[in-house]
Amino acid sequence: MNFELTPRQKEIQLKVREFCAKEVAPRARGYDLKEEFPWEVVEGLKKLGLLGILFPKKYGGLGLDMVSYCLILEELGRADSSVALTVEAHNSLCSSHIFLAGNEQQKKKYIPKLAKGEVLGAWGLTEPGAGSDASGIKTRARQENGHWVLNGSKTFTTQGSVAGIYVLFAHTSEAMNSRSISAFIAEKGMPGLSVGKKEKKMGLRASDTAQLHLVNLKIPKENLLGRPGRAFIDAMNILDAGRVGISGISIGMSRGVVEEGIRWVKERKKQFKISGDSPGLTAAQKLLADLATEIEAARLLMLKSATLLDQGKPYSKEASMSKLFSGELVMKATTQVLDLFGEYGGTFDCPVQKAFRDSKLYQIGEGSSQIQELIISRHLLSE
Ligand SMILES: Cc1cc2nc3c(=O)[nH]c(=O)nc-3n(C[C@H](O)[C@H](O)[C@H](O)COP(=O)(O)OP(=O)(O)OC[C@H]3O[C@@H](n4cnc5c(N)ncnc54)[C@H](O)[C@@H]3O)c2cc1C
Repeated sequence: MNFELTPRQKEIQLKVREFCAKEVAPRARGYDLKEEFPWEVVEGLKKLGLLGILFPKKYGGLGLDMVSYCLILEELGRADSSVALTVEAHNSLCSSHIFLAGNEQQKKKYIPKLAKGEVLGAWGLTEPGAGSDASGIKTRARQENGHWVLNGSKTFTTQGSVAGIYVLFAHTSEAMNSRSISAFIAEKGMPGLSVGKKEKKMGLRASDTAQLHLVNLKIPKENLLGRPGRAFIDAMNILDAGRVGISGISIGMSRGVVEEGIRWVKERKKQFKISGDSPGLTAAQKLLADLATEIEAARLLMLKSATLLDQGKPYSKEASMSKLFSGELVMKATTQVLDLFGEYGGTFDCPVQKAFRDSKLYQIGEGSSQIQELIISRHLLSE
């Protein structure tokens, strides 16, 4: 067993850490308070190639492995979890689905545009009343004059109002079950695709989240993505990998708030009863030590899932364990560290309040903790 990162992995980790310190972290608070999409930061992401991390160089990507991807998301999550979600949803959901299920023509047409950041990608599966149970979506697609025509709506779509390319799910047969769902590639401006309400979220306020309306949305027949009726299985595979990436963001956020906690306690050693000759463990010391240990454990779980994926081995159970553990950890870390700040913790000036608001959404997005427990228990009971 080798815990060393490769020179290439260390290099990209350092590069992204420097980019985050210079261009992402200083802007995070401003974009969050204004609830504004950070287009300026997206330009920097493009220059570094972070909108095509996982895709081969022949499609304009960086061609990196999953471990590198997770390390990148950890750095971005530490600096600004809204920006990290933009990168994750673009890479893991929209682009990865086209890369996984697309034919060569579709990959050649769409992956380079996405990887180079000419357009952002969005992935619309969730609908009102169909989140955890995604097979309950109601959107339908029918064939008409050589086109597909979609009717329905999507909710909580990351990049919903800022994307140029969308992967959308709809039933293509009357069965209306998980085996009747197909996926389609839609482009901004196609007749019948419009953006609805933009969600006003308590956290991740610089990440764009919107509803989509599909009213007789006309999609060329060649934009059917993958085999008809196969999209639900593809979506579950996409979400498995997505959960490994999402774990990186939660770990980065947890690391960031614990660093803030350490800084705060060090500046107030007297208040927290920490002195050189202190005989016992204080509450603040225990809190920081326990959280730092759990962050290390979460990172190992994430790296194990990412390594299994890179090796082409089964990783679905580990991905859910990683998402569950890191999602619960980020909520706990932000809550406990916020407590150290006392009343200051309740103000917008406190350095960890943003991560506290953002963390709740990381527990829910790409499958809540309960859904991860359900997946893990199904694996355990079928092994
Ligand atoms: C920040 C963010 C970004 C998102 N981006 C996207 C996106 O880009 N594209 C997209 O398609 N979706 C996106 N989503 C939607 C997300 O995938 C759903 O929110 C998630 O799957 C949960 O669905 P729901 O919100 O409808 O909750 P529900 O499914 O209604 O669940 C409500 C509660 O019931 C629990 N529950 C549900 N079913 C069970 C069960 N069987 N057993 C035990 N408990 C259960 C859940 O854990 C939860 O606590 C995003 C969500 C968030 C928060």
